[in-house]
Amino acid sequence: MSVKENIQKILSELKDKKVKLVAVTKTQAVSAIKEAYDAGHKIFGENKAQELAAKREGLPDDIEWHMIGHLQTNKVKMIVPFIKLIQSVDSLHLLKEINKEAEKIDRIVDCLLQIKIAKEETKYGLDIAEAVDILQSPEFEKMDFIRIVGLMGMATLTDDEQIIHSEFKHLHHDFKLIKERFFRDKSYFKEISLGMSGDYKIAIEEGSTIIRVGSLIFGERNYA
Ligand SMILES: *Cc1c(COP(=O)(O)O)cnc(C)c1O
Repeated sequence: MSVKENIQKILSELKDKKVKLVAVTKTQAVSAIKEAYDAGHKIFGENKAQELAAKREGLPDDIEWHMIGHLQTNKVKMIVPFIKLIQSVDSLHLLKEINKEAEKIDRIVDCLLQIKIAKEETKYGLDIAEAVDILQSPEFEKMDFIRIVGLMGMATLTDDEQIIHSEFKHLHHDFKLIKERFFRDKSYFKEISLGMSGDYKIAIEEGSTIIRVGSLIFGERNYA
């Protein structure tokens, strides 16, 4: 199937649901992104700031770009002027840098806190206690150019659907806890970013509002 057909198939599954599809284009050529764009899709995600900024150069301005990978502080200023959502905030240090760069251009940047829900050691992310520490810190209180709009998570890479269900439930639970404690009357705190090619259907069942799908749309990635 073509990129267009793949996107249309996923979008048809999302119909009548409040779930947004981020088409993940990491390692994919600009021509593949253009194909998706020409099919009418305008929301894309990359996991490297440099790759994101470079690809954006050759593409239309009305694309909504999401940063979904670990972001180094020295790369923050490359994306702050245009990024729609930084999904992968995993430290107070990073948040400070985003706020600093955003303040320079008087722009409020939407972010998700990335919560560690998988068993794997290597995945980036905060545990819930660390997220709470950030949100109640005096530094965070002073950040006028950051808006935390929800949480993001990645499940363990496994065929065991029970594990995936339980990890996604875990994030939904954390979301409710943080909403209640810090964002109770903030309608903008509403996003739960869960689900990739292999597990987005489970994610939707577990309350995801943003799915991030790459290989199912564009085919296998080429890391060469
Ligand atoms: C690569 C990536 C995805 C998409 O993965 P697929 O399995 O290709 O759908 C989603 N989220 C993050 C954070 C990623 O790095």
